[in-house]
Amino acid sequence: MSRDAGRRPELIDAVLGPAGPQLTCDACFERLDRYVELELAGHDADAMVPGMRSHLIGCPACGEDHASLRALLRADCEDASPARPAR
Ligand SMILES: [Zn+2]
Repeated sequence: MSRDAGRRPELIDAVLGPAGPQLTCDACFERLDRYVELELAGHDADAMVPGMRSHLIGCPACGEDHASLRALLRADCEDASPARPAR
């Protein structure tokens, strides 16, 4: 018999991150554009849109939206070639 009662759920903390604002699906949807843009631009999207990541992990519907928007914007980015050659 082993007793784990004294152990803290560190793994859960690691997955969910520090306690922060809980996003609703509406709030998540409103910020998804911005979040993905930040991600693709190489910014720390998680820090700039707090609560988003834990919502995406916990909410399969929004997680799917995130994945498809990301694929869409990434294709868009490549199409527009942001890195223009110097004149
Ligand atoms: Zn959601």
